Amino acid sequence: MILKAENLSAGYARIQVLKAIDLEVKKGEIVCLVGANGAGKSTLLKALSGVIPPTAGRFLFNGQDVTGRKPNQLVRIGLSHVPEGRQIFGSLTVKQNLFLGAYVNPAKKERLDDLLESVFALFPKLKERLAQKAGTMSGGEQQMLAIGRGLMSQPKLLLLDEPSLGLAPLVVEAILGTIGELRSRGISILLVEQNVNAALHISDRAYVLETGRIVLQGEARSLLENEEVKRCYLGM
Ligand code: ATP
Repeated sequence: MILKAENLSAGYARIQVLKAIDLEVKKGEIVCLVGANGAGKSTLLKALSGVIPPTAGRFLFNGQDVTGRKPNQLVRIGLSHVPEGRQIFGSLTVKQNLFLGAYVNPAKKERLDDLLESVFALFPKLKERLAQKAGTMSGGEQQMLAIGRGLMSQPKLLLLDEPSLGLAPLVVEAILGTIGELRSRGISILLVEQNVNAALHISDRAYVLETGRIVLQGEARSLLENEEVKRCYLGM
């Protein structure tokens, strides 16, 4: 088990968003979070990456209780968050953005070059654009960069928030294909994705969130056949 949340609650100031979440991600799994706007999916990723503190419950990473740790501490042990909206630095080059992802674990120059090469193996376009200012790239390329930056810290678990938001269908397909590729590299993934149909097709398991609670969970394949999921999230 790479991640286990037990009875986890969190929110913003006095607003409680997440209510007693129990969730697991096993090693090598892609797990998808499904839910309407405002259900708490992004909030759950923020709680698990240390961006907001849990108000109750706990979570374990690789068997270790890491509740209350800060994002930089969690990145260092292999838990990386690629937030919604990419949040890359537009005025920095692609290379500078990628290097920022590696700074939590100071590495030798040769090591950085190896890390860059492993990102280029997934996203060859980034190699061509290494010296380009990130803000001048297309949305799809910026998303590749955001994921690439997350990979520079050599995560064991990647939290991915809406990686296909605002992208053209072909680019969405490419990005989701890459997420499958990450799993075959041994990286576990917790994915929030508005394109529920495509996300369930690449996921092993999924959890459905409604108003901060998990209301349904199961194998992704079986959720694709679930009448309620079909009606509420697949538009069928
Ligand atoms: P979306 O797809 O719209 O991002 P989501 O499931 O990711 O939906 P969250 O972003 O986690 O939903 O939001 C859950 C609830 O928390 C919503 O009611 C939202 O208004 C509220 N919320 C989100 N961010 C904040 C914040 N910084 N301060 C206060 N409330 C917030």
